[in-house]
Amino acid sequence: MTAPLIDPFARAITYLRVSVTDRCDFRCVYCMSETMTFLPKKELLTLEELDRMCTTFVHMGVKKLRITGGEPLVRRGIMTFFRSMTRHLESGALNELTVTTNGSQLEKYADDLYAAGVRRINVSLDTIDEQKFADITRWGRLPQVLRGIDAAQKAGLRVKINAVALKGFNEDELATLTEWCASRDMDLTWIEVMPMGDLGNEDRVGQFWSLKDVRKAYEQHYQVTDLAENTGGPARYVRLEQTGQKIGFITPLSHNFCESCNRVRLTCTGELYMCLGQEDMADLRPALRDNPDSEDALRQAIRDAISHKPKGHDFDYSRQRADGQMPRHMSHTGG
Ligand code: SAM
Ligand code: SF4
Repeated sequence: MTAPLIDPFARAITYLRVSVTDRCDFRCVYCMSETMTFLPKKELLTLEELDRMCTTFVHMGVKKLRITGGEPLVRRGIMTFFRSMTRHLESGALNELTVTTNGSQLEKYADDLYAAGVRRINVSLDTIDEQKFADITRWGRLPQVLRGIDAAQKAGLRVKINAVALKGFNEDELATLTEWCASRDMDLTWIEVMPMGDLGNEDRVGQFWSLKDVRKAYEQHYQVTDLAENTGGPARYVRLEQTGQKIGFITPLSHNFCESCNRVRLTCTGELYMCLGQEDMADLRPALRDNPDSEDALRQAIRDAISHKPKGHDFDYSRQRADGQMPRHMSHTGG
């Protein structure tokens, strides 16, 4: 074990999010265009390289790994990678191995994930209306995802639902979605839509449903108690007293959370993004590939990268345009 990773603002970096593929079997309207061009396979880190990357981060003090994408569970052989991470859980070096998924492959993989040591997963689901689900994901089908959630819960995985808050789309489902989650003992987190990717004809400002307003909507139906809990991440939590549920709010735009940021993101090509909302990144692939037998060069490259972690992002909708907008797709950096 080496000295912990500390950035210039004295934040300890203990959380790595890893995008294992940019591909996906859905085409959510706020995330990808229908005609996405994906990276050629040879550009991707191999599963073995992903293992070496993650292992080095774990050796440098990362305690939590979240596997994401694209859709992480469509990457061929991905269970091999999950199983290889089990050793870090067993040694106690890693506290948590988790995944963010659209749920489409959970029916197939839920048991394997549990066996690999995964205990909690996030499933992204913006609506429980079959037609609206098909509209927002373009290629997704709700029954398949619901079967996946059933399989996950049956396997013993704790499921949290993440929903993107979209004005005029799921505003009317606030109570339905909340009660549905409560009936299945699942927490729910709302995410504000972010100005990522190529907006094309999408009206991201018009779609923006501030989580301040989501919270107000909850207050009309429930007794809402603020929770002090802070995961070092962008989510703030409340409890609904009537259901006992924890509701999260990820507010990159209406509330700035950067001061407590403990995370960095690795893309499927080996680029390390120090902040989701900034272009600053370091390409770790040369250090990885040029030194197959030693971690030293990679460790140094990681330390150099962390020494450039910016203070925060610049997203801002307050002037009614998507300021601070990033041309990168969420599926590239890993949501
Ligand atoms: N495919 C997986 C999934 O959908 O859960 C993992 C990757 S996806 C990029 C991760 C999360 O990012 C999802 O919850 C998705 O809803 C969210 N996301 C994608 N584009 C977004 C955007 N423009 N604004 C806010 N959240 C977004
Ligand atoms: Fe795929 Fe997730 Fe993006 Fe939807 S949000 S297109 S499921 S990567």
